[in-house]
Amino acid sequence: MSTSNQTMYEAKFVVVGGGIAGVSCIETLAFFCQTESILLLTESPIIKAATNLVALGKSLTRFDIEQKHASNLPKNVQIITDRLLQIDSHHRIIRTAEQNHQIKYEYLCICTGARPKIVDQINESNQKYILGIRDTESVCDFEKRIQNNRKIVIVGNGGIASELVYELKNIAIEWVVKDKYVSQTFVDPGAATFFQNRIKNKQTESTSSTDENRPRLVKRMRYTENTDETENKSGAALGPDWHTLFNLTGKCEGLPEAVRIHYQTGIKNITINPICDDQFPVQVTLENDTILDCDFVVSATGVLPNLNFTMIGEQFRFGPDGGIFVNELMESSVSNIYAAGDVCYAGWDWTNHWFQMRLWTQARQMGAMAGKSMAAKYKEETIYPDFCFELFGHVTQLFGYQVVLLGKYNGQGLDNKYEALLRVTQDKEYIKYVLVDGKLQGAILIGDTGLEETTENLILNQLDLTPYGDDILNPDIDIEDYFD
Ligand SMILES: Cc1cc2nc3c(=O)[nH]c(=O)nc-3n(C[C@H](O)[C@H](O)[C@H](O)COP(=O)(O)OP(=O)(O)OC[C@H]3O[C@@H](n4cnc5c(N)ncnc54)[C@H](O)[C@@H]3O)c2cc1C
Repeated sequence: MSTSNQTMYEAKFVVVGGGIAGVSCIETLAFFCQTESILLLTESPIIKAATNLVALGKSLTRFDIEQKHASNLPKNVQIITDRLLQIDSHHRIIRTAEQNHQIKYEYLCICTGARPKIVDQINESNQKYILGIRDTESVCDFEKRIQNNRKIVIVGNGGIASELVYELKNIAIEWVVKDKYVSQTFVDPGAATFFQNRIKNKQTESTSSTDENRPRLVKRMRYTENTDETENKSGAALGPDWHTLFNLTGKCEGLPEAVRIHYQTGIKNITINPICDDQFPVQVTLENDTILDCDFVVSATGVLPNLNFTMIGEQFRFGPDGGIFVNELMESSVSNIYAAGDVCYAGWDWTNHWFQMRLWTQARQMGAMAGKSMAAKYKEETIYPDFCFELFGHVTQLFGYQVVLLGKYNGQGLDNKYEALLRVTQDKEYIKYVLVDGKLQGAILIGDTGLEETTENLILNQLDLTPYGDDILNPDIDIEDYFD
């Protein structure tokens, strides 16, 4: 709702969005431009920041996510809590939705994140039975529903779907994946098989272990969510460990089989059953004509850049995925406007071992790069793209294991012309090296392998590993000794 007490603000640097990209951009700007005016426009006063950074290699960093009130940002940052409504790129002014403020900028960075893609079959009659998980609000909704429900259908094969399947207890799950194996976004069929044990043992685990004694190889500090209703509305995307804050327990104890996986299929139709005792309210028909009854559907099929504002004047160029097209300095096609994080499309020529994936890691790296780039432009200094864009690196957790992904970990873009070297110890570790002509192109390290830094170096150096043969992953040989 607009009010008439419109105010005109002005700042040298304006950043929109209090997620990880916006906050890392603001922190970088505040560091490089301590005496300049910096303004953060954010929908929610609760912002997300990366803390406790642990470098596992040159470009591989594990970190915690902390929720803070925006007032904890550096003192030279002014904060306005409102939603961006419109950018007037001609006059370098932005307008806000609630209070109708106008903010004049010299340099602007858009970090509005992404929104969940919801299955196409959504319509007026079934929409209240389809849930996309993105932010605190959507998980609270999910948590409430799950406590009274017996069976859900989860659609999607990425990190969110995988974590949900692992974390949910006392509820039957029909998991619909479009691929031949689970968690394809992150791993290969071998690693998926390695995880299967965890899925099979799920029911046993949920009755015999507590949250505290579950195997968790990486201990990340758990961040706290503000439960104040007013501050809970659509904030930044959730991140690692998000599920630990919620009670993901359904109604049915002692289910004989908790998870059924439907491979290589998708949703054809979602209809509502007539109300009648004991019957599930929703009927899902899969593309292979299997019919599933359930209480509701969780759609975890990826995200779309969040462009929830209009633009007058010069328009953005967009990437093929609908994100704001940026170069390696995070500059958009519109002068003095930058973009970072999930909202942008990395439009530069990627190195051999880097590609874009909408993750915390890249949101933080891009936000910092945008901050550096804006400061350098203002100070008329020359800067170069950050080293982090040399090599794709991501640390996450799947099915209770630490998962480290490096370079072309799944043979991306290699046309199946690669050799894979594997070391698997059931229930302990899964290591896969992707090699082309004896040179390491990527790796998946699952479990507590301690190989992160060596592996990263081997990809960056492109050393010919042919002379070492299979010894590279021989558990009796410490490969770090070879190369240190
Ligand atoms: C359930 C879930 C689990 C995930 N797990 C992982 C994981 O384990 N590891 C990982 O690396 N990544 C994970 N991700 C992805 C990760 O959360 C995102 O890549 C990351 O948050 C992107 O950061 P961002 O700053 O670009 O966007 P966001 O974090 O989405 O922040 C966007 C900000 O912009 C604000 N905003 C939006 N529109 C406007 C507007 N018009 N005006 C003002 N403000 C606005 C929002 O309120 C928010 O503060 C997960 C995502 C989800 C949904």
